[in-house]
Amino acid sequence: MIDLLDKHRPIADRIARMLAQGVNAVGVTNDAILSPTRAIIEGRETILAGTNNYMGITFDPDCIAAGQEAMARFGTGTTGSRIANGNYAMHQALEEELARFLNRRHCIVFTTGYQANLGMMAGLAGSNDTIFLDADSHSSIYDGCTLSGAKLVRFRHNDATDLDKRLVRSEGEEGGRLVVLEGIYSMLGDRAPLADFIEVKKKRGFQLLADEAHSFGVLGPHGRGLADEAGLEDEVDFVVGTFSKSVGAIGGFGAGNHPLFDMLRYAMRPYMFTASSSPASIATSLAAVKKLAAEPWRRDRLRENSARLFHGFKGLGLELGCDAVSPVIAVKCADEATAVAMWNALLAAGVYVNIAVPPGTPNKLCLLRCSVSAAHTDADIDRIIELFGEVMAAGHGRMAAAG
Ligand code: PMP
Repeated sequence: MIDLLDKHRPIADRIARMLAQGVNAVGVTNDAILSPTRAIIEGRETILAGTNNYMGITFDPDCIAAGQEAMARFGTGTTGSRIANGNYAMHQALEEELARFLNRRHCIVFTTGYQANLGMMAGLAGSNDTIFLDADSHSSIYDGCTLSGAKLVRFRHNDATDLDKRLVRSEGEEGGRLVVLEGIYSMLGDRAPLADFIEVKKKRGFQLLADEAHSFGVLGPHGRGLADEAGLEDEVDFVVGTFSKSVGAIGGFGAGNHPLFDMLRYAMRPYMFTASSSPASIATSLAAVKKLAAEPWRRDRLRENSARLFHGFKGLGLELGCDAVSPVIAVKCADEATAVAMWNALLAAGVYVNIAVPPGTPNKLCLLRCSVSAAHTDADIDRIIELFGEVMAAGHGRMAAAG
């Protein structure tokens, strides 16, 4: 008999190597969460610099009160899908609020952002269609493509010319064409060059979906994401986003203006065959989206903090994931052992960041990924920079650039 788990022995070896160097970097335990930017980890108060809590909204008293009230009035769970077991009025209220915020005619809320990508991609594209994916796309986008049964064509990351070439090659094939981009790429923090892609769209014709998971609430004059920042929202047919980052809750959404958009509800398996979010999550998300609209200072503060960390890291001579200021700032390490050593040294010194290693990273990079929050103080950002500097000086940090 073949033991089905045998194939995972290499993972066990990798985890054992990591544990030999210190704490489990891919399964850390927060013993207490003190605030959006502080936790107790390994018995120490630690600055959180790897949370995706971009707006620092997780402890907002209004959001907490909304969640508590919803739980008291509607219970702990919805115990079923909206198709089979019915809607709660607050699901619809959240969809209406989001549609207003996004300036889109239609919006559908999902239980997670992962499911939003699965649902939207498999709802839009079928086995006769072709999905063109940026090579650095998030796993939920790849998985959505697999679920759809559509033909997958990958193009070089952020390369509109490469996409153009591949579109020309597929000319004459049957079925529709969906191109998927991300507002801010989750590992390196770079943005899609949207204007270049839209030039290709005008020339070749396809439908465009933007996953604004890391840019929703963050970029643009209205906080709607990269397309809002670039002034190109009319050219983006479908938007996907998550509540797990700037909204500080859990859930996801898809939005668009197409008159048949709402029919996707009856075609998306990850919407139909799973329970809808809990009342507490929906109410918290609704309160948070209202705050994103009413409190643009959070975006300004996040931008200032991101610039402070970016320039501080540059000053240390670190090689970063991209050259633009973004709330995702990734530090490139020479190899996995270096990344693990540096991650442990940083945690011991009092700062938590994310470790990101292949196969979860583009170009097999080993990264220490930081995410900035509007709730970080200047002193927090300066301390993070100082600790990176100290850890490097102590010899833990053989960075990519220094080799
Ligand atoms: N898209 C991207 C680009 C992401 O980074 C993530 C989560 N990291 C998701 C979608 C999925 O979001 P969720 O956490 O809500 O499942």
